[in-house]
Amino acid sequence: VQGLAGAVVAVLGLGRSGLSAARALAAGGATPLCWDDNPAARARAEAEGLACRPLSRIEDFDEIARLVVSPGIPHLYPAPNTVVAAALEAGVPVDNDIGLFFQSFATGDWAAFDTPPRVIAVTGSNGKSTTSALIHHVLTSAGRPSQLAGNIGRGVLDIEPPQDGEVVVLELSSYQTELARSLTPDVAVFTNLSPDHLDRHAGMGGYFAAKRRLFAEGGPDRAVIGVDEAEGRFLAGQMAEGRGDDRVIRVSVTRKLTGPGWQVFARKGFLSEYRKGRQVGSIDLRGIEGLPGAHNHQNACAAYAACRGLGLAPKGIEAAFHSFAGLPHRSQTVGEARGVRFVNDSKATNVDSAAKALAAFRNIRWICGGLEKDGGLAGLGDLSASVRKAYVIGREAAGFALQLEVEAEVCGTMAVAVARAVEDAEPGDVVLLAPAAASFDQYDNFEQRGDDFVAEVARHL
Ligand code: ADP
Repeated sequence: VQGLAGAVVAVLGLGRSGLSAARALAAGGATPLCWDDNPAARARAEAEGLACRPLSRIEDFDEIARLVVSPGIPHLYPAPNTVVAAALEAGVPVDNDIGLFFQSFATGDWAAFDTPPRVIAVTGSNGKSTTSALIHHVLTSAGRPSQLAGNIGRGVLDIEPPQDGEVVVLELSSYQTELARSLTPDVAVFTNLSPDHLDRHAGMGGYFAAKRRLFAEGGPDRAVIGVDEAEGRFLAGQMAEGRGDDRVIRVSVTRKLTGPGWQVFARKGFLSEYRKGRQVGSIDLRGIEGLPGAHNHQNACAAYAACRGLGLAPKGIEAAFHSFAGLPHRSQTVGEARGVRFVNDSKATNVDSAAKALAAFRNIRWICGGLEKDGGLAGLGDLSASVRKAYVIGREAAGFALQLEVEAEVCGTMAVAVARAVEDAEPGDVVLLAPAAASFDQYDNFEQRGDDFVAEVARHL
């Protein structure tokens, strides 16, 4: 980390990103002072020579220039974190690893490069990982060096020093954008907005404000903005006002965008790019196996727009889409047997993303259930045309099943759910894990749940 040499910087939370922040600060000549409530985490940091000290009183912040908070720590909601509260009262600025990254990046010396490195930041409620991974894949396929970091892949402070012409693709959660003091990507992507994670953001307004910060501060050279929700339309209008329509690329999967600006939209499986009223690119998305369903067409449009914003040609982007393998646990086909396809979308942890996954297929044997999110299952829509039957897992499977408007069998465990779905399935059916719930009642995380599904499926292939 550049720009903080000689300063004492407090680091709260000693998980992966906290440790990497502390190391990067030390490497840049700052003195990190660390804290984590968990003694084992402190012991790991101390074993590396990092100093730990409690930071709960205002006086503890006397010498401290900044507090760097880990993304896993709820700093304001549902209740103010005592360390963060003490720092704020002492007048110490609060930041995170993303803020440190952008600060460092902005002060980097790229004078010797022909093409200075660029940062693309992807934010939004759903589709961030897929969009980021797709952008990274398109760039590397086109021979442009790229590193993928942030919420996906590596921590931002663990990336290699950028090379000439390199692009850093960052996936950023709202928790990360909310705290970062510096957020200056060259291309900012806003995928969409859905009412998830509201508890930590004081409702929808606060949540949107967290996303919107990415587009403030002078703003990026290019903003790719999903305009299928009112908030996105508002953001695009605001960006375009004052800064010219050429800086904003609007993206939609619900309507044909018209207007004088730059727009990318998908309709009936075809992506179209229009600029100044003229069509300048198009891609048939229907046969692209790694990107099934309208939700992935949205991700494809956003990735396409971001790559066009960097100057890549439509043909190269299209070729790369065809070789995109998809991400594990997101609409990922994990097997096929006796005419039945098995799809792992364990990442569909909320109603909105599950609805999107369900809309991508027909004749679905739907494995769902787990720890319900606030708001219950409202918003799933009418599933009767696409879902043949639900197989419900989770500790609260019975209660979950009662809320479904399709035939549902209470299975409890993944093993039973997969076995029952396999027994019932006919050729042409899709056995889809898209839980519409968090996994923590039965698993450590959604990846473990998806892996369990894949292992159970393997027994029946
Ligand atoms: P994120 O990183 O934002 O959580 P992912 O790309 O990991 O998004 O996708 C998470 C889940 O959300 C997927 O499994 C899929 O069911 C759903 N999803 C993916 N893209 C979209 C989208 N553009 N809109 C709505 N849901 C989506």
